[in-house]
Amino acid sequence: MTKKHLVTSALPYINNIPHLGNFIPLLRSDIYTRILKLQGENVLYICATDESGTRTEIEAEKKQMTEEKYCKIMHKKIKDILIWFNIGVDYFGRTSSKSNHELTKEIFLDLHKQGYICEKEITLLYCPNCKRYLPDSYVEGICPFCKKPGAKGDQCDNCSKFINPEELIDPKCKLCGQTPVIKKDKHLFLDLPKFSGKLKKYIEGNRNFRGIEKNLPLAWIKDGLEPRCISRNLSWGVKIPLEGYENKVFYVWFDAPIGYIAATKDYCDKNNLDYKDYWQNKNSEIIHFMGKDNVPFHTIIWPAELMSSKKWNLPSRIYSNEFLNYEKGKFSKSNNRGVFCDDVMKLSYNSDTWRFYLASVLPEGKDSDFEWQEFMEKINNELIANYANFTYRITSIAKRFGQIEPIDKGKLSKKEKDISNKIKENISNYLNENIKGNIKESLRNALNVSSLGNQYFQENKPWELIKDESKKEEANHVLWFSFLILLNASVLLYPFMPAKTKEIIEQIDSSFNMSNCLKEKIPLELEKNILLREAKPLFKKIEEKEIEELKKRF
Ligand SMILES: [Zn+2]
Ligand SMILES: [Zn+2]
Repeated sequence: MTKKHLVTSALPYINNIPHLGNFIPLLRSDIYTRILKLQGENVLYICATDESGTRTEIEAEKKQMTEEKYCKIMHKKIKDILIWFNIGVDYFGRTSSKSNHELTKEIFLDLHKQGYICEKEITLLYCPNCKRYLPDSYVEGICPFCKKPGAKGDQCDNCSKFINPEELIDPKCKLCGQTPVIKKDKHLFLDLPKFSGKLKKYIEGNRNFRGIEKNLPLAWIKDGLEPRCISRNLSWGVKIPLEGYENKVFYVWFDAPIGYIAATKDYCDKNNLDYKDYWQNKNSEIIHFMGKDNVPFHTIIWPAELMSSKKWNLPSRIYSNEFLNYEKGKFSKSNNRGVFCDDVMKLSYNSDTWRFYLASVLPEGKDSDFEWQEFMEKINNELIANYANFTYRITSIAKRFGQIEPIDKGKLSKKEKDISNKIKENISNYLNENIKGNIKESLRNALNVSSLGNQYFQENKPWELIKDESKKEEANHVLWFSFLILLNASVLLYPFMPAKTKEIIEQIDSSFNMSNCLKEKIPLELEKNILLREAKPLFKKIEEKEIEELKKRF
């Protein structure tokens, strides 16, 4: 049986329209998956909206809607964003689904049966003015560890340490600004210290974990893990199947990752497949993409949940990214700062333009910035001057020339053979960098192939050859070889810019099958006659004055 890959992207939170920084894990996982599919791998790509939590209750109340209705509307909005950006998820589920409720209860009961759940009376912050408990992000105060202000009730954004809400110094209700009171209540805890040994063994034994995915959880285990509260005083969410807890639900982070399994199950049920082949079969890899702030949850809490039963596969690969900032600052909806995905959809640039730019500045290894000036430069000087220019020039000349016929491979010059070898080398690097999670490097290798095409075209001047009837064969040869390079470049760029490259590939060979084209024979080859129907510029050059306006607007 061939190996399976289950790829997930961090679940978009139902209450936020993602900004371009939040969008990074979606883009990286999409490109990664598309490249695996070009290699003929068996991949299932899953995502879902994360719908539990206090904020959902508050937002629904503000809009005078039920949580169900509110989540349905927001889910559709986020799904439309994914569709617009060409994020090719096989299934986009919801954590409020029946299957997620069932699986969450199953995993909880397995943990409970084995003594991994403990009960404690804790002090909670309650706002008498708002008449609600204030967990998570609805209370703000000074971090007890690093002493920076602005720490939330569950985690400090500055030092990323977990916090129990009552530990916050000088807490304030974020809804009304008043000081909350402390109340005592019984809650459930995931007994993380009991997992320390197993987690350490798992993380140290996973050769794919490098950098933060390895160092951060190991450092935490070394410092000593603490039991983690997994229940909340809310009504919206997954009910806790335990006597005495009828009025509480699970903490959003307990049921959210289980949403990966539930979405897989919902997809499989609809397609006559078995989700266990992905989640319980040892011949399957679980692969998660996320921002670096999600690493603690995915390397400690999530594997601990899966350790509820030996049947679950633990994550094999975790690809986290650093942060994408906006013009050297943070994205912020409330301060009207930065570009959000719904803004992007209203501007005049197509999704391939955005995907290309974002892929070329991915925060891999270190933080990066979205900058309008750079957006213009990357599009004009790297995308248009390289791939788009090559494509436009060759298709224009081919259209004038007429039918191009395959050439005898024995007639390739030494220079052309060298180019073929260089393409081969770039493809091999492209695939290796993708598996390492260096998506930006894969893009660089794809662009190298396109540069080889530009150079070859420039040196061999087919626009002169086609004017001379006696050089018809030579013109055919040069055009054929140029198209061969263009096909290779287009296929390699397809995961980055699926819409435009697909049009070009179809023009070159309408029956070309991309689904496993990079599996064996590289560089790719062409066997049929080529007859170009049309030639038009692929992308619009961006003018300085457009950028000036956009800088003012966002
Ligand atoms: Zn802190
Ligand atoms: Zn309040």
